[in-house]
Amino acid sequence: MKLRIGASGIHLFDRQTGTNILLDEISPKKETWSLAPRHVAIALTNACNLACKHCYAPKHKAFLNSENVLNWASELDKNGTLGLGFGGGEPTLHPDFINLCKEVNINTKLAVSFTTHGHQLDKHMISHLSPYVHFTRLSMDGFGDTYEKIRGRPFEQFLSKLKMIRSEMRYGVNYVVNDETVADLDKLDFLQDLGCEELLLLPQHRTKYVNDIRPPAKELMTNWVESYTGGMKLSVGAYAQDGLPACDIFSKDDSLEGYAHIDADGLLKRSSYNKEGVKITTSLSYALEKLKVL
Ligand code: SF4
Repeated sequence: MKLRIGASGIHLFDRQTGTNILLDEISPKKETWSLAPRHVAIALTNACNLACKHCYAPKHKAFLNSENVLNWASELDKNGTLGLGFGGGEPTLHPDFINLCKEVNINTKLAVSFTTHGHQLDKHMISHLSPYVHFTRLSMDGFGDTYEKIRGRPFEQFLSKLKMIRSEMRYGVNYVVNDETVADLDKLDFLQDLGCEELLLLPQHRTKYVNDIRPPAKELMTNWVESYTGGMKLSVGAYAQDGLPACDIFSKDDSLEGYAHIDADGLLKRSSYNKEGVKITTSLSYALEKLKVL
């Protein structure tokens, strides 16, 4: 188990099982708090071979340098981060992707996860990733035809990836909720039978091509969440939780205590949606301190 001291108490985390224990009856002194966020997402590249309209990843070419990524992982590990999530773009298109997962796993105590559209995964890649990755997040927006319209790939092909991964790696599904996908929320029970442990709903965020989720769709989603009785762990993207019953055990945290994002240009930001950030030049810790006062 890894231990993290923060504003909310003492946090114990087991990366193998994902078990979290928060000892919140203890109030650690501020000078003992961990310097780095609990979770950091790193966009390894902007590259992607799909073209979803709701995609907010920048479209210019960018790949992070592997040595920098490993140095940042080591720094985050020493400063109290518990988990590192690789994303993009499509992180599996980074030429060093498998090695990065392996090195972070071996050389740190961080939980390694990644978010993917899934279509690059094959048995060879899964067998090389599974010893080193603690959790995988697959993006699935809509069911059947809706999925195919949004992702431009056969839904059956996506299902075949879930079947391939289910016995090898723990995984969850990220689901963008918009006018088109909200009606398919009722069709997601099958995911549990395919080994999916978590369902993360991401209400659509405005991009160049789409608007924020509209109120009627958001209301339908809220009703669905409130009546959810399924066995998968359910969460909703933090930026759109208003109106939803929330369980936030870390409510005493400021946002940088919980989360930070590094984009594919090496810019440290409060979230992937933020435009502003701090370029990581010397050390990540230095950039974090600068971001806290930005
Ligand atoms: S699969 Fe993900 S990264 Fe690729 S275009 Fe779609 S949303 Fe963007």
